[in-house]
Amino acid sequence: MEPSFILFWGFAMTKDYIPFGTPDFTEAEIEAVTRVMRSGWVGMGKETIAFEKELSDYIGAHEVVTVNSCTSALFLALLIEGIGPGDEVIVPSLTWCATANAALYLGAKPVFCDVDSQSMCVTPKTVAEKLTSRTKAVIVVHYGGYAVDVDELRQTLPKHVAIIEDAAHAFGSYYNNKKCVGASGNLVCFSFYANKNLSTADGGAIALFDPCKAERLRSLRMSGMDSNAWSRYTKASTVFVASLTELGYKMNLTDLQAAIGRVQLRRLGEMANVRFEIAKRYKQRIDELRMDISFQSGVFDKSHARHLFVAMFDITKTGIKRDDLLLALRTRNIGASIHYRPLHSQPLYAGHGVPSLPITESLAESIMTLPISAKMTLTQVDYVVEQLAALLIKE
Ligand SMILES: *Cc1c(COP(=O)(O)O)cnc(C)c1O
Repeated sequence: MEPSFILFWGFAMTKDYIPFGTPDFTEAEIEAVTRVMRSGWVGMGKETIAFEKELSDYIGAHEVVTVNSCTSALFLALLIEGIGPGDEVIVPSLTWCATANAALYLGAKPVFCDVDSQSMCVTPKTVAEKLTSRTKAVIVVHYGGYAVDVDELRQTLPKHVAIIEDAAHAFGSYYNNKKCVGASGNLVCFSFYANKNLSTADGGAIALFDPCKAERLRSLRMSGMDSNAWSRYTKASTVFVASLTELGYKMNLTDLQAAIGRVQLRRLGEMANVRFEIAKRYKQRIDELRMDISFQSGVFDKSHARHLFVAMFDITKTGIKRDDLLLALRTRNIGASIHYRPLHSQPLYAGHGVPSLPITESLAESIMTLPISAKMTLTQVDYVVEQLAALLIKE
C-alpha cells in the first residue's frame, strides 16, 4: 500500500489535506536548482548576486542583502541600528516569536504593544503607549500582508527611534497603494521560509537604501569577512587581501536557494493572482450563504499580499468556541490555523510582566487563518466554506 500521509505539525496530512499555506514549486524551480547543482558552485555566488539585484529592482530599494532567514534579518537589522543591553524595542505581541526574539539575542528588552482591531497591526497610538526614554527601535509587522503606513508612524516618533519592518508576510504588498513594501528607506526584513508567499525553502533578505549599512550587513552575514567567498574564488588577486574586520555570523543564503527564489520572483504575479482569486471566492461564497464572518481589513485590496487569510469568529455570533471550530475543521482535513498565540502569554516572555493588551487578547480568542496558497483550487475553497456552513449554520 502506498503511504498516503505524512506528519504535518503533528497532524496527519492525507493527500486531501488542505494546509493553511503550502509552497508552489514547479518544474522551473526544480530545473533551476538542478542547474546550480550541476554547475559545481552551490554556496553563495553569482545566483545570489543576481537574486539580490532582481529583488532590489522589483522592490525599488537601492540595496537588498539576502540572508538565511528572516530571523537572521531581524537580528542583523537591530544589530546595525546599534541596539543592545538596556534598550527597549517595541514589538506587537500578535506576531511570530522571531520578531521579539531578535531583541533578546542582543540583550535588549522587547516591549509588547497592542494592535488595531481591524488591521491587526500596530498604529502610531498603540506604539506611543509604550514609548519610554529607553525606546531605541520599533519593529512594525505587516501582519498577514497588510502594509502599515510607516511614513505616518515615522512622523509620530522621536528621530533617534529606528523603525525596522518585519515584512515576513508582505512580499508584494504596497504602502498606501503606492510603493512596494521594502522601499520605505527603513531596514525591511523579508522571509522566504517554506510557507511564505515567495519561498526558497528557508531564506530571508533585508531591503534598504543606505550603501554603508548594506556593506556592513554583507560582511556580518559572512563571518565578518570584508569580501565574500565568491569574489575570493573568482578574483585571484583578492585571495590574500580579504580581511576579518569584525565578529560576524554565518547567515548567508546559498546559490541553490537563490536559484529557486529567482524563479519564484518571476512567478510572483501569477501566484499573487491565484491568492486574490481564492480570497474573492471565499468572500463570494460566504456572502451567498449569509454567514456572519468578518475578515482582516484590507485583505481584499490590491495592496495586500494575502500571505494569511485571517477571519474573525465571534462566539457571541457563532455560538461555538473558536478552538472547537478549528478542531472540527481539522478533522475535516482543513488546515485552519491560528496566527498567533500572543507572545506576551508565552512562557519565555512571562518574566517581562504581563501588560494588558486588550485588543490583542480579544483577537487571540476570535481569529482563525483559513487555508490560502497559490496551489489551492477554487474547489477546495468551496469545500472549506461548505464545512464552515455545516458547522455554523443552524437550521
Ligand atoms: C515567518 C516569520 C518570521 C521568521 O521568518 P524565518 O524566515 O522563518 O526566520 C518572522 N516574522 C514573522 C511575522 C513571520 O511570520
